[in-house]
Amino acid sequence: MKLECNFADDARILNEETIMDVTKELAGEPGMEDPFCVLNVGDLVQKIKVWKLKMPRVKPFYAVKCNDDKTVLEILAALGTGFDCASKNEIQKVLQMGVDPSHIIYAHPCKPASHLRHAAKQNISLMTFDNEVELHKIKAYYPQARLVIRIRCDALDCAIPLGIKFGVYPEDVGALLAVARDLDLNIVGVSFHVGSGCREPQVFSRAIAAAKGVFEEAQDLGFNLNLLDIGGGFLGVGDNLLDEVAEIVNKSLEEYFPEDCGVKVIAEPGRYFVASAFTLVTNIVAKRDVKDDDGSLMSTMYYINDGVFGSFNSIVNDGQIVKVVPLKDCGESPLLPCSIWGPTCDSADQVMPHAALPRLSCGDWLVWPNMGAYSMTAGGTFNGFPLPKVYVVIPHHTWLYLEEHLGMTTSKFELGDNSVIDGGPGYPTTPANTTAFTCAAATTSL
Ligand code: PLP
Repeated sequence: MKLECNFADDARILNEETIMDVTKELAGEPGMEDPFCVLNVGDLVQKIKVWKLKMPRVKPFYAVKCNDDKTVLEILAALGTGFDCASKNEIQKVLQMGVDPSHIIYAHPCKPASHLRHAAKQNISLMTFDNEVELHKIKAYYPQARLVIRIRCDALDCAIPLGIKFGVYPEDVGALLAVARDLDLNIVGVSFHVGSGCREPQVFSRAIAAAKGVFEEAQDLGFNLNLLDIGGGFLGVGDNLLDEVAEIVNKSLEEYFPEDCGVKVIAEPGRYFVASAFTLVTNIVAKRDVKDDDGSLMSTMYYINDGVFGSFNSIVNDGQIVKVVPLKDCGESPLLPCSIWGPTCDSADQVMPHAALPRLSCGDWLVWPNMGAYSMTAGGTFNGFPLPKVYVVIPHHTWLYLEEHLGMTTSKFELGDNSVIDGGPGYPTTPANTTAFTCAAATTSL
């Protein structure tokens, strides 16, 4: 299969520059005022490489819900990642890129009938379930589906405890499997999701052990399971992110599902791949000084053009702690107490109740790293404020890696008349602002 990465016309290759350099350049463009994001493709590719290195047995099916940016999906698809889709629209988005239906899991245990019919029409046969009503629905609309039973096993500490909504308790699995057998449905595997933003890696050991129990129970009922799906929950920001969790997963797999047992292992990571790849940049659109009775400055309220109804929704939804720095160099200016507010008329639209920044003005920019997970997909345009446009940057070494590993058949640079960056060995010298290139990639398998 050929998959194409069609980078946007305004994508840039980074040579000597840093992300901050490019951000400054973008923010300085005439008329630039709306919030925007910078997507560092290098960060995304590095995450894929580390996953492959640390958990070679576990094939990732990226959770599209986390961030459905086109470049992200294209890079992941081209590098052999599968996809976890939660709806008809997500399925369509992934299929339209040329991804094979067999690389998709419809990982939503409670599916609208129309979406289920769509899955059947598109041959998206692998799907999760966790309740009896869903089994009857699947029997009605897609009886040939390959079913993955989602069990509940919660981390003791995580940002979003998904177990309160989904997953059958292991003790109720037997009864549910019996219904599936009576309906003559095809159960092929077990899945779980320990909770998003999981801060208890040990839970993977408990969950994999519980899954093994379900495999045995299913076998007693006459099913022959061959798929284990260890879900999502992998952190997206920090050093040596996968080290501990990979050690626990690999050890548990070795113990309960050794390599020669014939069970295929997949996962549904979302935030791991994208959280740190996106930097959000917002503009200060208004400000208000708060003074005490004798007129001295107590604090400043800065109003920016993205907020908790948009990209910052995770502050409310999963307690995300955000970090901020001014884009301009403020030298040794003292840090003053302030609060940061979103653009809408709603007073709940507060991004940071307490922050410390140098004294800033309307029109100044604020930079927010690690804003790739559940930011744009879970945010809306309440009060008419737009979600940020995404600008793609590709470090030169990443570009070389993509070229080498994707066996690109075309790599095209369209020359413009802006400032020049050196494309490196074998590359044409390319204008920084009008780099347009396409790679048609043969899929590699992770
Ligand atoms: N799979 C399912 C079914 C989910 O609901 C989610 C997140 O809600 C994910 C995967 C991705 O989880 P994470 O971003 O924590 O890796």
